Amino acid sequence: MNVPDCIFCKIALREIPSEIAYEDDEIIAFKDNQPLAPVHLLIIPKNHLINLNDVTLEYENLIGHLLGVVRRLASEFGVAESGYRVVTNTGTDGGQVVGHLHFHLLGGQALEAKIG
Ligand code: 5GP
Ligand code: ZN
Repeated sequence: MNVPDCIFCKIALREIPSEIAYEDDEIIAFKDNQPLAPVHLLIIPKNHLINLNDVTLEYENLIGHLLGVVRRLASEFGVAESGYRVVTNTGTDGGQVVGHLHFHLLGGQALEAKIG
């Protein structure tokens, strides 16, 4: 289900243009438009889940599928061997800005060891 004023729902519907890296019935991945690393992709379910707090049992297969897509994209974008980071910011203290569940895939350079 899509939410009309959600940026990422609009990207999934192609109402907002983006550089799409992968798409299937359940998932879409696109380049972050303010990249923090040479490879910075956002991988999202098309279904409007707000964040991990919405990932109840019925969505666990979806998240497994999504992480499989992340792994394949890491390989496709050439960072599987060099290494990469997968981040999902959750809620206000987690630094989440866009309220549609998304996983950042960051790589292509040595990332800071610090996470928090
Ligand atoms: P958050 O801080 O919510 O975890 O991350 C949101 C991410 O979405 C940010 O890295 C930001 O650059 C990216 N972003 C926000 N709006 C757009 C957009 O319209 N297009 C694309 N491609 N990325 C966006
Ligand atoms: Zn949405």
